[in-house]
Amino acid sequence: MENGVCIRPMPMRRTNLDTGETQIIPVPCGATLASKCPPCAERARRLRMAQCKTGWHLDDEPVPDPDPPTDDAKALATLRADLEAARADVLAAGDTGQAGEIDELIGQIDDELAALGVRGKAAPDNRDRPRRVRSTRRRQDAPDLPRLPVDRRTVGRTFTAADGTVWRPSMFLTLTCDTYGHVHKDGTPVDPASYDYRRAARDAIHFPKLIDRFWQNLRRAVGWDVQYFAALEPQKRLAPHLHAAIRGTVPRAMLRLVAAATYHQVWWPSADQPVYDDHRQPAWNDTAGGYVDPDTGTPLLSWDDALDGIGEDDEPAHVVRFGPQLRADGVTANTATTGRMIGYLTKYLTKSLDACHDIASDPQRRHVDRLADALRHEPCSPTCANWLRYGIQPRNTRPGLVPGRCKGKIHRRETLGFGGRRVLVSRRWSGKTLTDHRHDRVAFIRAQLETLGAVGTGPAAPDGESDPARMVWQLLRPGDPAAPRREHLLLHAVAQRHAWRAQLDAARAAAGGGLLPATGPPLPDAA
Ligand SMILES: [Zn+2]
Ligand SMILES: [Zn+2]
Repeated sequence: MENGVCIRPMPMRRTNLDTGETQIIPVPCGATLASKCPPCAERARRLRMAQCKTGWHLDDEPVPDPDPPTDDAKALATLRADLEAARADVLAAGDTGQAGEIDELIGQIDDELAALGVRGKAAPDNRDRPRRVRSTRRRQDAPDLPRLPVDRRTVGRTFTAADGTVWRPSMFLTLTCDTYGHVHKDGTPVDPASYDYRRAARDAIHFPKLIDRFWQNLRRAVGWDVQYFAALEPQKRLAPHLHAAIRGTVPRAMLRLVAAATYHQVWWPSADQPVYDDHRQPAWNDTAGGYVDPDTGTPLLSWDDALDGIGEDDEPAHVVRFGPQLRADGVTANTATTGRMIGYLTKYLTKSLDACHDIASDPQRRHVDRLADALRHEPCSPTCANWLRYGIQPRNTRPGLVPGRCKGKIHRRETLGFGGRRVLVSRRWSGKTLTDHRHDRVAFIRAQLETLGAVGTGPAAPDGESDPARMVWQLLRPGDPAAPRREHLLLHAVAQRHAWRAQLDAARAAAGGGLLPATGPPLPDAA
């Protein structure tokens, strides 16, 4: 791993249309999980560490103020449309293997799009606005909190000690979910029978919304634009919790007040009483254009009707709040603690959520099984197939939906109910490091797109080389006589990386120190 070279590079043949010259180029896989590719995952983690460090104790407001890069978003949206078309083509040709590859790319692009549009937000915005305006009783603001106009300031205050030393303190904050029953040291319930798995599952699913509300409430309560770098990970009991580096300081009492007053209400139809089970399920009916009861043939309640059925006096289907555990510590710049905290924040980023803690004993296995089971049957969104179980047609209902088989990420065991992004960085944290990263990713995804033949030619060549429009990229299929042996690919990648590293160091030296502060955690691969 010393050279940080991808262990599963994709061999690509690049042909120069003018000269006919071809070259085999290994493209890194770009995985963020170590289970897929340790060097790529570690590189991604180092990048996050650098990003965290850059913004934590900024002396000045980040310049330029990073506006949403709309060109990137447009380029990505176009790529996504191309990929959908390519996917339809390969599916029509019966190549399910390649369709899988394309799905993975579409997933990457969705992540990129999410990162561009709602950077720092934990929950995706609902694409469709609610049809009706809720009564004021359903507003989700927190009336007990101070409400100040939010100043544009994002940098914390300094404090001068008696001896003239100037301190610029920041904070490390941990927020947890509520309790669902007492647990042992290993995270398993003392009384599994009464442990509330359903509420644990629902809280995990809606936790991102709660976090977004917390930052919103906090900024209004303190009156300045608090910035954060946060990571979501599971506690031993498998409930998600949030670690956040906050720039500047907020009094602990205020953090507690805001956390206690913040809540998120879920205004969905009730999903408490299953109407159907695995043996008796609603059936699709073409004439009705929806699902009907298998015995009576009566159409199920439509999504809109189910929503309309929620009365003014009804309670929300679910309310998420933070648990009582809240930790907040002051951290000053460039101390050993800063490095340790950054390591702590990024510790689990290369692992899937269910692999963050060892699941070694039978009680632990049973605990994760029961949570996974609860998550399988919870509705993840208005379009989730699981609504059928509760006698309701999902929004945009269509044939082929099977309760318990929804493809939504949160139902997957490895997410423990959390399907969103793991790292949440507010818009004005640093505005530097990840922008570079993002451009790399756009170029990378674009290059991969070329290989799928969706475009054929295009701007996929690295900067500074031949006219990109005159290059054709192809993924070498296994068995291609030109396919280099894996060792050769890796050697090539190592050489390329050394050359690139040297270039980068030179550029940094020329820029007078570069993007990354010189002290702090070792960041050999950060770029
Ligand atoms: Zn890799
Ligand atoms: Zn679902």
